[in-house]
Amino acid sequence: MRHLDIELTRGDITAQPDVDAIVNAANAELRTGGGVAGAIHRAAGPGLEEECRPLAPIRPGEAVITGAHDLPNRYVIHCLGPVYGRDEPADALLAGCYRNALRLADEAELGSVAFPAISTGVFGYPVEEAARVALRTVREVAGALQSVDMVRFVLFSEDDLRVHREVLERLEAGDEDE
Ligand code: ADP
Repeated sequence: MRHLDIELTRGDITAQPDVDAIVNAANAELRTGGGVAGAIHRAAGPGLEEECRPLAPIRPGEAVITGAHDLPNRYVIHCLGPVYGRDEPADALLAGCYRNALRLADEAELGSVAFPAISTGVFGYPVEEAARVALRTVREVAGALQSVDMVRFVLFSEDDLRVHREVLERLEAGDEDE
């Protein structure tokens, strides 16, 4: 199987200039807001909302791709994660975000993509459960990718980084429960 590098880092999704695309934990209307969406739209400038307008609304699990405007990347991929406890099945919808984002990145012949921990903020998805879905899905999709060879998870807190590290280690060790 082709090799896909998975990097885990603590940081800000808007400060990843060496990746081709960053992923937005978007809202259905693809508007600015709090958390990741606010940070991305602020850094990208008003042109991003304008480009997003005709693409909205999107449904949980879906992803759309736009330019990155004033961000230092080539593209932004906007994913709508599930609201935990409301959009079901949450795990399949969250996996859909990662799968669809990587498909779009691969179709655009990109090499690298950075994700935030989609749905784990305002949308309330417990971070360890979300990390398991996210990392498992990226590993599953890896073999089908032609172009993407690096996926970075950008975690906002030291705790979230630690949880992702632990989940990835268990997956790499082949723990059946993961
Ligand atoms: P959602 O609505 O999908 O839950 P949020 O933007 O509320 O999305 O949060 C998703 C995750 O991203 C949370 O863990 C939050 O702490 C984190 N986060 C918030 N701002 C940033 C940022 N600038 N860069 C990376 N991660 C961020």
